[in-house]
Amino acid sequence: MTRIFRTEPLTIVKDYRIRYQSTMGKVSKFFLDMVNEQRIMGTRCEKCGKTYLPPYPDCPDCNEKTSWVEVPTNGVVEAFTVCYAQPRPFKKKLPYVLAYVRLEGVDNLLPGFLEADPDKVEEGSKILLKIRIPQTGPRWGVYDADYYFELVEG
Ligand SMILES: [Zn+2]
Repeated sequence: MTRIFRTEPLTIVKDYRIRYQSTMGKVSKFFLDMVNEQRIMGTRCEKCGKTYLPPYPDCPDCNEKTSWVEVPTNGVVEAFTVCYAQPRPFKKKLPYVLAYVRLEGVDNLLPGFLEADPDKVEEGSKILLKIRIPQTGPRWGVYDADYYFELVEG
């Protein structure tokens, strides 16, 4: 229903129904394999051999095509921050840790939530990447799966 108000400037209030469609493009396999196979896929440059996660369809260093490779789920914290506030959509228990990790054999850094006591996290801490597929809540296909990091003690 559209309503027009006699105001200066003219104001029109109208309800919109919007359907969003988004595509993951050439990196769709990352999301599909995380949901369907519970594995983490990166890409490797066919020329220089660098491995990327997040995956890139083309190598950022030499512009050559990349191929899919399964990557290890162990790595180390390269940088992190402890968050004491959260944007409204997040439902994290405060404080929480955001980290950039380098998985073994991967050349770029992967951001994500590190589920750990902030006092136990430091640069170089060992982590494991875990896949989470919620059993309740809205079902959004590939968005159902998520990954996070766990601290490896010792
Ligand atoms: Zn390359």
